Amino acid sequence: MSEKQKTFSIIKPDAVASGKAGKILSLLEESGFRIVALRMTKLSQSQAEGFYAVHRERPFYSSLVKFMTEGPVIVMALEREDAVKKLRDVMGATNPANAAEGTVRKLFAESIERNAIHGSDAPETAAEELKFFFNSVELNQL
Ligand code: GDP
Repeated sequence: MSEKQKTFSIIKPDAVASGKAGKILSLLEESGFRIVALRMTKLSQSQAEGFYAVHRERPFYSSLVKFMTEGPVIVMALEREDAVKKLRDVMGATNPANAAEGTVRKLFAESIERNAIHGSDAPETAAEELKFFFNSVELNQL
């Protein structure tokens, strides 16, 4: 049996505000993810800036930070085998216009920016992002 892996995800402000959080959680569970930890929160300016620091030179950075702080988000630790890659698959392409049928972004994203969900892009990023939002007790629950 292959080993379980954890990844980090955010249901973004657009999807929480439009009442899609429950449907997205269902889709994730139906796709084989176990919810290990979950919390609703509102990102501060500095949290959003820090979280997306890798994009700080991009033209959309300030708009992205504004969007991510506009309302509540749901942060989650998710677990399954090959979790990082499998979550990227079920999220769909960044731009919903390019997202495959049945993916979260195809179903629920409004635009390339307001695209419903975040998922870590690599195991190393997942470890960092999980630690950014959850403590070790929360991440090791049975
Ligand atoms: P992801 O890994 O698919 O989330 O995509 P990226 O890491 O490239 O970008 C991070 C987030 O920035 C995306 O999920 C979008 O919310 C936003 N974003 C990415 N590209 C663009 C863009 O070209 N324009 C705008 N306005 N936002 C973007």
